[in-house]
Amino acid sequence: MSADAPEPESITSVASEEIETKHSSQSRKRKVGAEPPSRSSKRTKAAAVVDIDVKKTSVVPEKSTRTLHRSRTSIKQETPVVAEADITKEANVKKRSSRAKKTPVVQDQEAIVDEEVQPITKPKRKTKKQKEEEMPPLAARTIGSQLLIGAHVSGAGGVHNSIPNALHVGANSFALFLKSQRKWANPPLDPTIPPLFTSACSHHKYDAGVHIVPHGSYLVNLAHPDPARTKQAYESFVDDLSRCEKLGIRLYNFHPGNSAGAPDRASAIRHLAAQMNRAHQDPATGDVITLLETMAGGKNTLGSTFEDLRDIIALIEKKERVGVCLDTCHIFAAGYDVRTPDAYQSTMKRFDTIVGKEYLKAAHINDSKAPLGSARDLHANIGTGFLGLRAFWNLVNDGRFHGLPLVLETPIDVPVKAELVGGGEAESGKKKGPVKKAKAVEDKGIWAREIKLLEQLRGMDVESREFEEMETRLAAEGAAERDRVEDQVRRRDDKAAKKSAGTGRGRKKAAETETESSLDEDELD
Ligand SMILES: [Zn+2]
Repeated sequence: MSADAPEPESITSVASEEIETKHSSQSRKRKVGAEPPSRSSKRTKAAAVVDIDVKKTSVVPEKSTRTLHRSRTSIKQETPVVAEADITKEANVKKRSSRAKKTPVVQDQEAIVDEEVQPITKPKRKTKKQKEEEMPPLAARTIGSQLLIGAHVSGAGGVHNSIPNALHVGANSFALFLKSQRKWANPPLDPTIPPLFTSACSHHKYDAGVHIVPHGSYLVNLAHPDPARTKQAYESFVDDLSRCEKLGIRLYNFHPGNSAGAPDRASAIRHLAAQMNRAHQDPATGDVITLLETMAGGKNTLGSTFEDLRDIIALIEKKERVGVCLDTCHIFAAGYDVRTPDAYQSTMKRFDTIVGKEYLKAAHINDSKAPLGSARDLHANIGTGFLGLRAFWNLVNDGRFHGLPLVLETPIDVPVKAELVGGGEAESGKKKGPVKKAKAVEDKGIWAREIKLLEQLRGMDVESREFEEMETRLAAEGAAERDRVEDQVRRRDDKAAKKSAGTGRGRKKAAETETESSLDEDELD
């Protein structure tokens, strides 16, 4: 991404840009025959012109500014774009945030927002209809495509808010957190929410059973054998599954966990599978399919090899209740190449042989800031990372992914110049006085454009000038960041190689001994 601060533009100006480019886009579309004509063809085709240049296409900053590089105890704030962005709530959130600093308790902005809806000074809550009217889409949804591309959107303020948020970026599928993903204690699902969720889904033609794949809590490690930890993790897991059941959702993605607390990998896998089997027996979990996410690797992480997934699935009693969500960034970091057509075919063949194609139920679509086999989990924007545009062309043109939810988890925080936000209070609470720091705003237009970009790749001629230009431009955008991360990985490997005294296990050793710090830099996994 560009490090320049974007000049916020109104949504109207984005729309007019889209309209200006309509004709060239339409003729190209016809030529490549990427998508069947859609009902909202004007807007859709116009919006299909993808421009990743943030300066040109960034939209109104969506609610509060946030600092970059915060610790993993807080994540970027996802809020409905226009909904409830009133000053009262802003003030409340700020107040709560500063209180939170005094305690070591893991706090989460989404949860904070959830809790701040008590009507102290807050005016009447806007209706769903009002919110939608205030939130014109950044890109129209492509209707009738076999590619179900979407993004991990916010469900802050109630999971039903995820639907207008998905619509806002033109998503045909989406992920969300069903509750705070960074803390254990959560209020139960408000019984008034499922009907709101269900009616919003049917109104906007999202099939909850097919298009929506919630993401599990980052805290849950079902592989840890300690009884108290097992109980806590299991209860959170089953609670999420029962929320899915109540909302009509059938796919649920989670991280398989790690073997840190277990005597060995095999017993960690047995413990994990036992918890999954137990959950599948619980009638509250309905027939929700639990998806193991492929992982990037790192210390004791389960799910970073296809063999791990195979071994877990082998122990699952109800095979119809288990599946895999393939994360493109993670498999690449774990050493599976998908960049060339040959590499892609060979990786997917390995998946089919080792895991089984019938278990592939969803994918996370992310480029990677870190090189192949680095075991670093760092998501990059599409085409800007080490995977590059061709990898995504391979995927969207592969029938096995058609009809599956393909969810972006790419970065959308756009830095704003420090002087624009002033010195302000120090986020850490340690430094005082006017400190210049990088702030960020979320630009959901990035997802809107990436969705259109991926849709556009289907059926596109990779030999065409258009593809080559796009590939080159995106690769150039990510060059500095790739160099930076590659250098980090090299230094880490060198250090590990020295430690292991030239045993030739440098990179592997480094990945094994790496702490979870790589996750710190990621907002979504
Ligand atoms: Zn992921």
